[in-house]
Amino acid sequence: MAAQTEESDTAREQTKAEQDVDQVRQRAARDQKRLDSGAVTNPKDLENLQSEIASLAKRQGDLEDVVLEVMERREAAQGRAAELSERVDSVAAKVEDATARRDAAVAELDSEEAGVRKERETLAAAVPEALLTLYGKIREREGGVGAARLYQRRCEGCRLELNITELNEVREAPADAVVRCENCRRILVRTPESGL
Ligand SMILES: [Zn+2]
Repeated sequence: MAAQTEESDTAREQTKAEQDVDQVRQRAARDQKRLDSGAVTNPKDLENLQSEIASLAKRQGDLEDVVLEVMERREAAQGRAAELSERVDSVAAKVEDATARRDAAVAELDSEEAGVRKERETLAAAVPEALLTLYGKIREREGGVGAARLYQRRCEGCRLELNITELNEVREAPADAVVRCENCRRILVRTPESGL
């Protein structure tokens, strides 16, 4: 915006400088016409007129230098504004792209969440009420993980290996008993790979 403001400011400055040149040029042309008409005969007046024409020529030259200087600044400002505008467009395109990718990712996660929720509902419906309550309590206390697989004698919740006594207890427990890790108290899920 600053570059665009500078651009329009210098454009205005150029118009003003060109008008100044025009005024001086017109006045010099009027003087020259009077001089050429021969209407001025008094030597003093003639001298004054010639001197004014000379000083107007000098003034015109100075003002034309001003116009050139303003034009240079205007071109530089235009270049800067164009370059910045290009960068703004490029950044805006990146933002648009990132937003689209984020939206797509969010939509995918939403859909995945809906699927997982549905799956959980189905599974939870098959779990006894009391066990589900226990699981919920442990899950809340243990950072979202209420049950862990017992894998090669190790609780995958806290990563600790069960000792012989604990392993024996798990081994002797009925298949439908709820066994828990002595260390983290999570529900242990037995599988053929539990190492029992
Ligand atoms: Zn554990």
